[in-house]
Amino acid sequence: MLELLAVPQGRNYIAGRWVDPVGDRMLTSVNPATGEVLGVAPDSSAADVDRAVRAAAEAWPSWRATPAPRRAEILFRAAELLVRHKEELARLATREMGKILTETRGDVQEAIDMTYFIAGEGRRLHGYTTPSEMPRKAAYCVRQPLGVVGVITPWNFPVAIPSWKIVPALVCGNTVVFKPAPETPLSAAAFTALLVEAGLPPGVLNLVTGGDETGAALVDHPGIALISFTGSTDVGLQVAARCQARGVRVSLEMGGKNAAIVLDDADLELAADALTWSAFGTTGQRCTACSRIVVTPRAHREVVERLADRARRLRLGDGLDPATDMGPLVSASQRQRVETYVEIGRREGATVVLGGERPRVPGLERGFFYAPTILDGVTPGMRVAQEEIFGPVVGVMDAASLEEAIEIVNGVRYGLSASIFTRDVFAAMRAVEEIRTGIVYVNHGTTGAEVHLPFGGTRATGNGHREGGLQVLDVFTEWKSVYIDYSGRLQRAQIDRD
Ligand code: NAD
Repeated sequence: MLELLAVPQGRNYIAGRWVDPVGDRMLTSVNPATGEVLGVAPDSSAADVDRAVRAAAEAWPSWRATPAPRRAEILFRAAELLVRHKEELARLATREMGKILTETRGDVQEAIDMTYFIAGEGRRLHGYTTPSEMPRKAAYCVRQPLGVVGVITPWNFPVAIPSWKIVPALVCGNTVVFKPAPETPLSAAAFTALLVEAGLPPGVLNLVTGGDETGAALVDHPGIALISFTGSTDVGLQVAARCQARGVRVSLEMGGKNAAIVLDDADLELAADALTWSAFGTTGQRCTACSRIVVTPRAHREVVERLADRARRLRLGDGLDPATDMGPLVSASQRQRVETYVEIGRREGATVVLGGERPRVPGLERGFFYAPTILDGVTPGMRVAQEEIFGPVVGVMDAASLEEAIEIVNGVRYGLSASIFTRDVFAAMRAVEEIRTGIVYVNHGTTGAEVHLPFGGTRATGNGHREGGLQVLDVFTEWKSVYIDYSGRLQRAQIDRD
């Protein structure tokens, strides 16, 4: 059985082998709950990226020519390996990025679901046939792979997000160079090891670890046909500008400022349970985390009280400890960012109802912990109402009516997810219709996605693509229309008409 923890450290995976990087710069992987050093991984240079892209380009012709059902068989085996190694991989991910074990199990489960779902596409990858406007002429269209795909991912879902990109890219017949977040290189190496153990031929999947410079070298490499990026909006827009200048395709999943509406008639117990999970699950570091709660007047006080009551009882600690409800932030700089925003909120006039500080719990000093924080009296113009914080901080905002609540939800640059709590079907349906996000929930928080539905956001969250669902196939393929004229004479479309 593959020993995940025995995956060689300090190496990239290129052309079917674990190889030393060209230079000697290394990233250090640190457990954010304890400060323990877990290991090292290459901080790869442009030369390493070049090596990986060349290997992927060399592997492409024969991978592309491999029938899609055969490609998928390898991916089914990969899903089975993920099932077998779920616990080991989840533990590694918890140690590397801090979220609690039940959540990293969910992270790996999402990769399993995605891999089974998309491997099934190996026997479909449907195009379509259609009548031609000419006699004795066949017309149909098929999906074509693009070539070498560069995959750039964040740290918050160190297994699931890479799977959303790598697995569909591969089933569609592309080869891949994977550049994971610098915070989670060991989880990325373990995930890569499992995929290649399933039988991917050399060069089909390559891993180069590193930080922003490594990512930039991948984006700028002339051998790349597509960059599939998930991360912050600032970086995503830079990546897009560089790709577009060279005519390279790019798909972007970026920041969010997700909001939940709670109307006066809502089930407030349900809303409080769901919003505690949405705001503080994964320490608020989910792309779909709830960072604004928009409440109508009669529900306001109760929502804040019930939420504070639940959040106060969350136990902070090491995510491997089954008693822990909320882990640390991923890094010192991420905690600094959260502290800065809470300070900004205070200066802007918001009231700190709960938290607003590091927890004073013995034993947590070495980790990057921050208390669950509720800001009340947040108004739409405040920076804490507009900018992504990406931590355990939620702002409560007042709305006089459903109309005003929807306006507040839509009044930010982002558009990933939103939700509404109400028993009124008219209000729920109006919210579903009028909210301008890629995902809308009714009587559920803003988090949670199933792999067989499209996932992604509008406006500054994305650039029109969707991951998940069958829609993801549009990211990793392009269409070829085929016309076969068997009339034996010249037939001119649009011109030869009676
Ligand atoms: P980030 O933008 O700092 O980094 C994302 C990735 O881009 C990392 O691998 C990083 O090394 C790389 N990178 C950084 N600079 C680069 C450059 N100039 N060229 C190429 N690559 C570069 O984001 P992060 O801190 O890792 O993750 C948090 C962000 O990700 C949040 O904004 C969150 O909302 C977003 N996110 C979005 C989704 C979604 O589906 N919409 C999902 C998860 C996370």
